[in-house]
Amino acid sequence: MKIGFIGLGNMGGPMAANLARAGHEVIGFDTASVVIDGVTPANSPTEAVEGAEVVITMLPNGKILRTVADEIVPAMKQGAVFLDCSTVDVDSARAVAEQALAAGLSALDAPVSGGVGGATDGTLTFMVGGDEAGFETAKPLFDIMGRKAVHCGPSGNGQAAKICNNMILGITMIGTCEAFALADKLGLDRQAMFDVVSTSSGSSWSMNTYCPAPGVGPTSPADNDYKPGFAADLMLKDLRLAMQAAEGADADTPLGAAAADLYRRFVEEEDGAGRDFSAMLPRFAGRGRA
Ligand code: NAD
Repeated sequence: MKIGFIGLGNMGGPMAANLARAGHEVIGFDTASVVIDGVTPANSPTEAVEGAEVVITMLPNGKILRTVADEIVPAMKQGAVFLDCSTVDVDSARAVAEQALAAGLSALDAPVSGGVGGATDGTLTFMVGGDEAGFETAKPLFDIMGRKAVHCGPSGNGQAAKICNNMILGITMIGTCEAFALADKLGLDRQAMFDVVSTSSGSSWSMNTYCPAPGVGPTSPADNDYKPGFAADLMLKDLRLAMQAAEGADADTPLGAAAADLYRRFVEEEDGAGRDFSAMLPRFAGRGRA
């Protein structure tokens, strides 16, 4: 398949490399002029999408996605699939899909879970919104770049699934970190805390798989001085998207709002910028009652 790939950063780079390694013809464009193994560099976004059957975008946010869509949609081949894998707001995802459909294209929003490791290993999970025909065309590509692709319904539903998932993740990580900090102050050993909670009703991915306490549970960014991993800044971005969507949909999300505010303070006013999102544990552990 001929594939145009726009946005070859930490995630897009390895995803494009995996598609090329699997034998697809991949033409890539990034404003930072990066070179990716097996990917033919294009001089412009329009050059990258020319004649492509599928165009994949992996960009920082909805504003940039909309700008890129304005450029590439008119240059794309009729019937081609516009496959956006970035994490963006639901409104931008739906607007770009409408623009693509009006131009005779198929459109999918397919944000991912799994991080840079998943992008490199080809084990991402895709949450996909859009039409069935587009999903079927893109399915073999999802199978190369990931382990699982769930079709969540019409355009925007992939982003909806992503931000709901990450809102739960932000809330459970904060809860897990709070509980560890409380356990410390109550004199409970962290290993004992892990052994109990990871096999009890307080268990979650944040505790069992990505434990925020160093030296406890499976290896995680906590064991690497909280180097990301998944940066607190990116968690803040996703929680903001969730809050924006909640406001638009008139949904009551008090814990999501509290999590967004805590990560905002952590990233903007404390020392959280550039640290893993599980570094909430040393933050709580070093404080008294707020
Ligand atoms: P990144 O900043 O490493 O990559 C984005 C790339 O887009 C950069 O290389 C940048 O130069 C390029 N770019 C910016 N504007 C452009 C334009 N107008 N035209 C072409 N290229 C342009 O970010 P990333 O970590 O690869 O994340 C990409 C997306 O994936 C984001 O939406 C992010 O929220 C999402 N995501 C990231 C992770 C993660 O762990 N990094 C996990 C899941 C989802």
